[in-house]
Amino acid sequence: MKNHKRKNPPMPENSGQAEKKGTELADEIYSDPKILEHRSLLEQIGIFSRIDKLNKQIADYHELVTGGLDIINRTSLDAIMDAAVFRISGHFMPSFVTFLWKPIQNRDEITIKSYQNYQPTDLGIKLHSITPFESFFERHPKPVNFSLMAAELEDRNVLNTLEKLKPEIIVPIVGGFGLYGIILMGQKMAGGKFSDGEILFVEQLMAFVTQAIMNYLNYQHSLRDVKTGLYNHGFFIHRLGEEIARTRRGSFTSSIIVMDVDKFKNFNDAFGHMAGDKVLETLAITLKQTVRSEDIPSRFGGEEFTVLLPDTDKEAAWLVSERVRNAVEEMQVPWEPSLPQVTISLGICSFDHREQLSAGSVIQRADAALYVSKQRGRNRSTLWNPGMGHVEG
Ligand code: GH3
Ligand code: MG
Ligand code: MG
Repeated sequence: MKNHKRKNPPMPENSGQAEKKGTELADEIYSDPKILEHRSLLEQIGIFSRIDKLNKQIADYHELVTGGLDIINRTSLDAIMDAAVFRISGHFMPSFVTFLWKPIQNRDEITIKSYQNYQPTDLGIKLHSITPFESFFERHPKPVNFSLMAAELEDRNVLNTLEKLKPEIIVPIVGGFGLYGIILMGQKMAGGKFSDGEILFVEQLMAFVTQAIMNYLNYQHSLRDVKTGLYNHGFFIHRLGEEIARTRRGSFTSSIIVMDVDKFKNFNDAFGHMAGDKVLETLAITLKQTVRSEDIPSRFGGEEFTVLLPDTDKEAAWLVSERVRNAVEEMQVPWEPSLPQVTISLGICSFDHREQLSAGSVIQRADAALYVSKQRGRNRSTLWNPGMGHVEG
């Protein structure tokens, strides 16, 4: 075996180093007297252009890793997508970039966000699900040219929608639970086809983007109740603890409402567990629609739900409670044959800096108030008061 050890290019130790190292290496080579002596020969056989090419590759990889880490470290979907678009635009400007993803794992809803000229924009894309793409990306779990997909996609409506958009490249977001979403990229603004190098760059950058999106979605899923998509018990308790700490430092009041479906055992017995599940799902949607975006509606367990209302005193919490109760009383559950109305009973507990309550005692108080609602005939709200039994911190 010939002894021609090839030295790997020096790896950048931290950001900003790769290009410098590459240049230093080039300077060292160009100023070496032995190399200068054979300069024209070396030039002739293309050594220098190869060095330049390798230096460019090192710089590109360095940029990729820096950009990738920047994307991976973002903690919101908007920030991940902003960073991805920024990094892509450093190389070329696609006519648009659109992200479509499933915010909740086992549901067929999707969220869409598009960009044009770095700016978020609404392209009016009429896609409601990523299911039509699932089998395609099982076969091709990599970014593909739209023409390849167009030849294989079975759903004509989806195909028509995509054809109007004219995407050039479609990138799957694939992970442990299958397809989480897709990213569509339009043609280059400057015209011309994407070069192999550009497609490779997109593929590599998107590996970071999809990982970042999946990390975020997995984290979100871990906070959610699978059946209803509301926050789960654990997250509610965590946020309640934080909110209690926040009220201790300030001079405002926050509240929680706990609610429980009335006579739900009878309902299940009469109409079946599946119908019961549909009621709980519809109730979750109603609850989400009835509270503010800063509130934390959660499924506490079984047929019990809770809402944390930051910056809300007991009078305001009472109004929210009654609004939720009325909305549930009137909600239509999509089911054949139609189902009777369900009602809920609610208990409210407010807290501020004057008492040192734990999350557990705030919940116990709200539960005690809920118990009174049940005792007094159900389908009503009750505010906790000290007469219901004082729960110590
Ligand atoms: P009350 O008005 O006193 O609350 O009466 P209830 O029948 O609702 O109370 P109980 O605690 O006896 O029964 C709760 C019922 O809720 C029993 C259980 O089958 C049902 N339930 C709990 N979780 C689910 C669920 O995920 N799906 C369905 N379909 N039913 C559930
Ligand atoms: Mg119950
Ligand atoms: Mg109940």
